Amino acid sequence: MAAELEAEVQAIDRSLMECSAEEIAVKWLQASDLQKEVYQHLAYYVPKIYCRGPNPAPQREDMLAQQVLLGPMEWYLCGEDPAFGFPKLEQANKPSHLCGRVFKVGEPTYSCRDCAVDPTCVLCMECFLGSIHREHRYRMTTSGGGGFCDCGDTEAWKEGPYCQKHELNTSETAEEEDPLVHLPEDMVARAYNIFAITFKYAVDILTWEKENELPGLEMSEKSDTYYCMLFNDEVHTYEQVIYTLQKAVNCTQKEAIGFATTVDRDGRRSVRYGDFQYCDQAKSVIVRNTSRQTKPLKVQVMHSSIVAHQSFGLKLLTWLGSVIGYSDGLRRILCQVGLQEGPDGDNSSLVDKLMLYDSKLWKGARNVYHQLFMSSLLMDLKYKKLFAIRFARNYERLQSDFMKDDHDREFSIADLSIQIFTVPSLARMLITEENLMTTIIKTFMDHLRHRDIQGRFQFERYTALQAFKFRRVQSLILDLKYVLISKPTEWSDTLRQKFLEGFDAFLELLKCMQGMDPITRQVGQHIEMEPEWEAAFTLQMKLTLVISMMQDWCALDEKVLIEAYKKCLTVLMQCHSGFTDGEQPIVLSMCGHSVETIRYCVSQEKVSIHLPVSRLLAGLHVLLSKTEVAYKFPELLPLSELSPPMLIEHPLRCLVLCAQVHAGMWRRNGFSLVNQIYYYHNVKCRREMFDKDIVMLQTGVSMMDPNHFLMIMLSRFELYQIFSTPDYGKRFSTENTNKDVVQQNNTLIEEMLYLIIMIVGERFSPGIGQVNATDEIKREIIHQLSIRPMAHSELVKALPEDENRETGMESVIEEVACFKKPGLTGRGLYELKPECARNFNLYFYHFSRAEQSKAEEAQRKLRRQNREDTALPPPALPPFCPLFASLVNILQSDVMLCIMGTILQWAVEHNGYAWSESMLQRVLHLLGMALQEEKQHLENLSEENVVTFTFTQKISRPGEAPNNSPSILAMLETLQNAPHLEVHKDMIRWILKTFNAIKKLRESSSPSSVAETEGTIMEEQGLTWQHDCRVPVTKTRLRGRGKLRLPGCAGRKSWPRCPRCSGTSSMRTKSSSSRLWRSWILRPLE
Ligand SMILES: [Zn+2]
Ligand SMILES: [Zn+2]
Ligand SMILES: [Zn+2]
Repeated sequence: MAAELEAEVQAIDRSLMECSAEEIAVKWLQASDLQKEVYQHLAYYVPKIYCRGPNPAPQREDMLAQQVLLGPMEWYLCGEDPAFGFPKLEQANKPSHLCGRVFKVGEPTYSCRDCAVDPTCVLCMECFLGSIHREHRYRMTTSGGGGFCDCGDTEAWKEGPYCQKHELNTSETAEEEDPLVHLPEDMVARAYNIFAITFKYAVDILTWEKENELPGLEMSEKSDTYYCMLFNDEVHTYEQVIYTLQKAVNCTQKEAIGFATTVDRDGRRSVRYGDFQYCDQAKSVIVRNTSRQTKPLKVQVMHSSIVAHQSFGLKLLTWLGSVIGYSDGLRRILCQVGLQEGPDGDNSSLVDKLMLYDSKLWKGARNVYHQLFMSSLLMDLKYKKLFAIRFARNYERLQSDFMKDDHDREFSIADLSIQIFTVPSLARMLITEENLMTTIIKTFMDHLRHRDIQGRFQFERYTALQAFKFRRVQSLILDLKYVLISKPTEWSDTLRQKFLEGFDAFLELLKCMQGMDPITRQVGQHIEMEPEWEAAFTLQMKLTLVISMMQDWCALDEKVLIEAYKKCLTVLMQCHSGFTDGEQPIVLSMCGHSVETIRYCVSQEKVSIHLPVSRLLAGLHVLLSKTEVAYKFPELLPLSELSPPMLIEHPLRCLVLCAQVHAGMWRRNGFSLVNQIYYYHNVKCRREMFDKDIVMLQTGVSMMDPNHFLMIMLSRFELYQIFSTPDYGKRFSTENTNKDVVQQNNTLIEEMLYLIIMIVGERFSPGIGQVNATDEIKREIIHQLSIRPMAHSELVKALPEDENRETGMESVIEEVACFKKPGLTGRGLYELKPECARNFNLYFYHFSRAEQSKAEEAQRKLRRQNREDTALPPPALPPFCPLFASLVNILQSDVMLCIMGTILQWAVEHNGYAWSESMLQRVLHLLGMALQEEKQHLENLSEENVVTFTFTQKISRPGEAPNNSPSILAMLETLQNAPHLEVHKDMIRWILKTFNAIKKLRESSSPSSVAETEGTIMEEQGLTWQHDCRVPVTKTRLRGRGKLRLPGCAGRKSWPRCPRCSGTSSMRTKSSSSRLWRSWILRPLE
């Protein structure tokens, strides 16, 4: 049988070899209906060449196809022998300046860190070696296959877009000219004809679904032969497939391995050849054997003619790809043919048809046509744009197909987004003309449907299938990142409008995340099952850069920023409108201040770590300051809608949760919570989690009476009782015999003090403090190197990366560190410059606990080595920006003084275990910060300013009746000699020294400027404000600008709390204070 078949095949081969390509081409040139001629030719010959037996014979097929099928096409196209025609075309061609080399798997690619517009811009090795970038800071990676060299793309490189090979001649201009002018007219016509016919043939046959019919072709075979075709999937393992095949088609293990390998590589392989029944039998066995646990392997019985035409269809696509390589003109013609709409209107072009059929095609076919798209549509500047539009219009459908498809993304047309969206001009065009941002986000939301009753995402009890889909849907976030990666330099009104529409959609997404995965403290028993937490964090982590980039975009345009801020606030208010059950209003009173809040205990009620809406608002609030929009257009901002208590509530709960976890109160909740807290602070997430929660508290304090803020804080920390009840400390230590509870409370007090230190001290982000971006990164490095000298790679790991995977470290490292060449151990290390040690802050907010204690030890050791005292006083800090300026008043507020006084009192009494040294250490640090603040205020004093920061005066005053406690200063003097506080002696001494220095400063400055200011009563929004400051507290130092216009207290109704107003004032509510709280929350916008 086999021998007979072979003889027959050879006879056919001989007759085929006698075909003359030239003669056929001449016939075609004279044909009145070319398509009919060509199709007849193909219908007759293709099945004679392809699929003649059970096993493919690629070499023979290729040889015959070239002779009988492609040869005539080439003759026809050239109008002469292609051996002369193609070289002529090549010579006449004015090649584009794009390299466009498509990468193979494992091929090295190079990107320039100095000049690439984003990290997706890469060069092939040849171009890289011939470019200026080999002298720059570059990054080498290995391609995962797909993607192409960006050499010659002026949008991809800030500098040096061309290598030597692709450089423009000086006579040439980069402007676009129609490449068709370099082609003879008759050739243009012939190219249209043959491309249209062959491209259509290939697309039709590849997307063909009928079994016993061909598209526009006659079935020529008399004897019907079939293939049993096995397709690839990502569900079954190699072993399963091999085992099944041995059973189903009776092959050896070696053959089965061969089949399986081809299926994995090409996406399909025939495993049996013969009549229909014979093939169908194999199919049933395969399906039966693989359907038990999962969906069965895909297997199909196909007519051999169809398989033959499909094989040639793919061959044709490859051929088209190589022919257009001879001439940019031919390439343009192919692009036109591909994007030409057919008679069926929308989505009827050949390109659309292929894209929309992508997920149904096998891997091998996808690869072939993706390559063709890359070498045609993406290489032609005009058609790249048109293709981008088609891609964007089909985006939703392509993504949905991808979700259902089980192939990896690199085999999906969806993966082409990186080639399109990362081109700045295309991305911008797609945003404004195709509303791409909104489309991406909405598509993303559509695929994450699992919600709880409040409409938030819910990942609990996720099935394997949903988890699989969730992984796939994450690639959409990547697309969003691509679209945002290059920021606009100019804004049109449409861009504004479309960006804000996208921002709306983005807020809807964040809204579904706000409060997701809420947790409740487990008491008594341990939790039975670790709750799912990774999905939510994965989402947050993947979105982190996008959230940052959204803010970057907002920062670029004042109008956009104002609108975005309003929108974000509206959504936040929707998230937290009204009380949830059990949130009863209560009144807190301390030191003559009282505030209305709600009763809420983190340790008893639900709390969530996910607050992206709050955090985005915090980020935007900082931008109001950084861009000075807050000062330039206060009347355009919804500042009167801001309810500081509402803003701080949820971030504060989250921070209290961390403190309670640290105090061991959540032990029974297991590791999932520990992990969440870890990631919340981790360098990968913190920028849009922990850091922004601190910012939100800073925002809150700067807009409200700090006494109120502190009381609410005490209450959330569940410490209000301890500090509001006189002598509670004494009773607390004697009455409370439960050592654990005492220990717990001590830790909570320490944590709360730490938090206050952070709120006041963390002002190194531009917009919060008067610093720039390099100050921020310098400070991060200083603190990392305060722990110990570090290698470059260690440092990089500790710093957050931006969307371009840059930390910004290189530009500043030399200012703060010296590089020590590797010794015998082999690693070069960065060492902190000695003069930078004075910037060390023991309570730097990005230290982990372990890092903090290591840094403390290292710094004390250093001081001892330098024969200095071992005090680690707080560093001098940059001034706050005006919007945050009033925040410092928290240090001299009555409640703060009370808290500090109480703890010092405990230290003086030294009564057992109701206090800790850590607590004292933090109080000393806070005292130090307040003194630094006052010192700086005095040093920067000018005529127009009155010093309202009078901390030294306040700590010199003894407590009032009935307590009659000694002043803070007096207690410090007592503690200075306490034998049990030896370690803190140096710090106390430093405080007293600084106190005296300030006193001297005050005496030397003119007495008139240190006037006690009288209070004024002002009515605003139903509140009575008592101001004791009417003039700017700090001198604002802003670059290139004269005086700042701050919303004045008296004049502006929209400003509930003047940011420059002293915090020592007290706010009293005129009416029932409970209404205040409600009105903050419930007041509708606009
Ligand atoms: Zn290249
Ligand atoms: Zn090049
Ligand atoms: Zn470069």
